This record gives sequence, C-alpha cells and structure tokens, in this order.
Amino acid sequence: MEATSITEETYHGIPRNKIPWGPTIDYDKCISCGKCVDYCKLGVYEIEEREGKKISVVKNPNNCVVFCTGCEEQCPVGAITHPSKTETREIIRKLRKAQQTGE
Ligand code: SF4
Ligand code: SF4
Repeated sequence: MEATSITEETYHGIPRNKIPWGPTIDYDKCISCGKCVDYCKLGVYEIEEREGKKISVVKNPNNCVVFCTGCEEQCPVGAITHPSKTETREIIRKLRKAQQTGE
C-alpha cells in the first residue's frame, strides 16, 4: 500500500484545485529558516534561490491537506497563515451544492 498520496485530486467530490486552501508566507516576518520545508512532507513548500539567497516558497498549495494548519506552529516567527476555516467550509458547501444540482 502507498504510504501517502502526494496530492488529493478531489475533496469530497470537489476538484481540489477549486478549493482555495493553502499556506501563505509573510515575507516581512519570514527568516528563511526552512522549518516549514522540512516539516511538511507533501511538497507544498520548496526552497528557491533568489538573487543568491535561499528562501522558502509555497510551491504547490494544492498539495496542502484541506483544513491542516500544522506548519503554522512550526514557524518560529509566526509567518505562516491559512485561509479562514469558516469561509473555506462555506466555499466547499457552495461547490458541493452546485455539483449536486448539476451546474
Ligand atoms: S498545513 Fe499541513 S499539509 Fe498544509 S503545508 Fe502545512 S503541514 Fe503541509
Ligand atoms: S518556518 Fe517560517 S520563518 Fe522559517 S522558512 Fe518557513 S515561513 Fe519562513
């Protein structure tokens, strides 16, 4: 059996890429420690080199598990945020409703 699938293609029948859930890095706070990259095993983050500096970037936001916020606690400076769970639930609810009515 596969240990983990890298990306969930659908979430309760909704195409994952329609659900706006993923982390955002506040670069005013980020100190490029790389902890988020090490912590999340789903390939959401990557290290990129920009102007000779290594920085952590959100490379694959759709790999982020819907409603997971685990990496927020790992960031030593509180630079990571996710969307509102309440608003995301509402978006999913509407998407499911549209799907059920055949839109
Ligand atoms: S919230 Fe969870 S799945 Fe999403 S990037 Fe952070 S650790 Fe990975
Ligand atoms: S854990 Fe926080 S400070 Fe460290 S690279 Fe990630 S976002 Fe930046």
